[in-house]
Amino acid sequence: MSSKVKNKEKVMKTGQDVSVPGLYVSECCNVEVELDKDASFPRCSRCSALTVWEMGDDLEELAA
Ligand SMILES: [Zn+2]
Repeated sequence: MSSKVKNKEKVMKTGQDVSVPGLYVSECCNVEVELDKDASFPRCSRCSALTVWEMGDDLEELAA
C-alpha cells in the first residue's frame, strides 16, 4: 500500500456519522460504498469487519 500523505485525508471509522455524503472506500477490502449525509459509516460490506473509510471522490488513480 502506498501511504500518500497529502493535505489532510478524510478518514472515518465504522460507527461515525457521515458529515460529507459521497463515495467511500473501505481500507480493508477497497469496497466502494455510497453514503448519505445522515447515515453512519457501516461495517465493510465485504468482510463485515469494523473498518476505516476513506473518501473516494478524489482518487487520483481514476483521473481519466
Ligand atoms: Zn473488508
